[in-house]
Amino acid sequence: MARIAIAGFLHETNTFVQRTTGMDAFLTADAWPGLVQGPTLFDAVAGTNIAIAGFIKEAAAHHHQLVPLLWASANPSGPVAQDAYEQIWAMLKRELEQAMPVDALFLDLHGAMVVEHIDAGQIEDAEGELLERIRAIIGPDVPIVAALDFHANISPRMVALSDALTVYRTYPHVDMSDTGRRAAIVLQRILAGERLHKAYRQIPFLIPLPWQCTLIEPLAALMHLVEQLERDGNVSASIVPGFPLADIYDCGPTVVAYGSDAAASEAVAQRLYDAMLAQRATFSGRLWSAADAVSHALASSGDGTIILADSQDNPGGGAAGDTTDILHELVRQRAPDACAGLLCDPAAAAAAHAAGVGATLELVLGAHSGIGAAPLAGRYTVEALGNGRFTGTGPFYLGCKMDLGTMARLRLDGIQILVSSHKQQAADQAMFRHLGIDPARQHILVLKSSVHFRADFSQLAREILIVAASGENVADLAKLHYQRLRPGVSTGIEI
Ligand SMILES: [Zn+2]
Repeated sequence: MARIAIAGFLHETNTFVQRTTGMDAFLTADAWPGLVQGPTLFDAVAGTNIAIAGFIKEAAAHHHQLVPLLWASANPSGPVAQDAYEQIWAMLKRELEQAMPVDALFLDLHGAMVVEHIDAGQIEDAEGELLERIRAIIGPDVPIVAALDFHANISPRMVALSDALTVYRTYPHVDMSDTGRRAAIVLQRILAGERLHKAYRQIPFLIPLPWQCTLIEPLAALMHLVEQLERDGNVSASIVPGFPLADIYDCGPTVVAYGSDAAASEAVAQRLYDAMLAQRATFSGRLWSAADAVSHALASSGDGTIILADSQDNPGGGAAGDTTDILHELVRQRAPDACAGLLCDPAAAAAAHAAGVGATLELVLGAHSGIGAAPLAGRYTVEALGNGRFTGTGPFYLGCKMDLGTMARLRLDGIQILVSSHKQQAADQAMFRHLGIDPARQHILVLKSSVHFRADFSQLAREILIVAASGENVADLAKLHYQRLRPGVSTGIEI
C-alpha cells in the first residue's frame, strides 16, 4: 500500500482571447465542480467522467491510501490571471506540505494552461512550472504521474519533471476517467519498482481543432495504431494533438511513450511520430461560411437533423459563446424551423424570467462580447424557462452536474434560441431537453461546439457542417498571427 497525494489544476488557455481567467472562474461550478480542497474532493468528482475520478477508483482497488489535496478547473478562456494561479498554487502547496511524506503524486492536469504573466517572461509553461514547484517540495525521487487532456501542449519540462503522462485518446473526450485509470496502472508499475524510460517527440505542425476528431480520419486510424503499438511493445503511449490556439513556444502535437525497455519505447515514439507526419496533409476538411451552410441546410430535405457546428464560437475552445452570425443568417434566409444553442446572455435570460413563459419582449440578443455580427434585435417570445441545473446524459458530459445559471428558450419567428447565463459548449442533448426541446425533431440544429457535440448528436445527424462564423476559436490557423512558436512549426496544413 502506498500513500498517494492526488490533485487537479486544469485550464485550457486560448492566448488569442483578451479576457483573462480570474479566480471566480475556478471557484464557480460549470459542467465540472468548482474548486474543492481536502476530502470533499472525493464527493465532488464521484461518478463523473473526469480523470481524477478514474484514478481514484483504480488506485482504491489496489488499496492505496489517497490523500486528496485540491481540484480546480475553469472553462477554457483567456490567460489565467496571475493572482488566480498563485492563489491556487498557495492552497495546493499548503495541502501538499501537510500531506507529506507521500510515496507518490497523481495530478489531473489539462496541459494547455498559460498564465497572464507570460509577457513578463516568467511563466509560459504553467504546468511545467507547477511540476517544478511540486518537485521542490517532494524531491526528485517521489514518482509523479499525470493525466492530461488530448489538447495538452506537452513541453520538454513537463516530461522531464514527471515520471509518466497518460493522455485522453478520444475527441470527443469520452475516456477522461479511463485516462485516470491508465495513469494509476502506470503508477502501479513504477511503485512495483519498474524504471520507465521516457520517449518524447514534438511534431512540427499545428492541427486545427475540427480535424482533431478521433471519430474521423486520420486520427481514428492513428489512435488504433497507438493501442496496437502499446500492446505489442508493453509501453504506455500517446499521440497528443495539442491545443493550437496558444501562441507559446511549446504549442503543438507531441507523442510520448513510456516503458522499461528504452529502445522499444523510442521505437514506438518514432513510429507514431512518422505516422503523424505521413498524415500531415489529411488533417483538413471543408469550412462553410454561415450563408452557405444555412442555404445548404434549407435546400436539403429528408429525415434527420442537419447540424451546423458554430465551431469558432465554441466556448470549449475559449470563445465567448455569444456570437450571432449564424442567427442573422437564419433570419435573413427566413429559416422556418431551426434551433440554436447555447447562446450566453445573462441579461436576456434574466429578462425572460422576469417576463414569464408566453410573454413577448424586445431584446438585443447576444454579441455582448463585441465579436462578429451585431446583437440580434427583435421581439422574442419566451417559450420555456430553466434554472440551468441538470445532469449531463451524453457520453462526454455523462453524470456532470451542470450549473449554467438562469436559462431561457426564446423564439424569433421560426428560430428557437437557447440562452444560458454561464457559457458552456453545446455538447449534450440534456441542455436542450432542459428547455423542452427534443434535438432529434429539429430540422436545423446550430451548436456552439467544434467536436465534442459529435459524442451525443452524431447519431441523429443527417449531415454535419463545420461553420467558420465569427469567434475566437479560429479554425484556419494560418489567419492567426503567432509570434512565439518554435522555429519550424507550421500553422498551415500544406506540405
Ligand atoms: Zn480537450
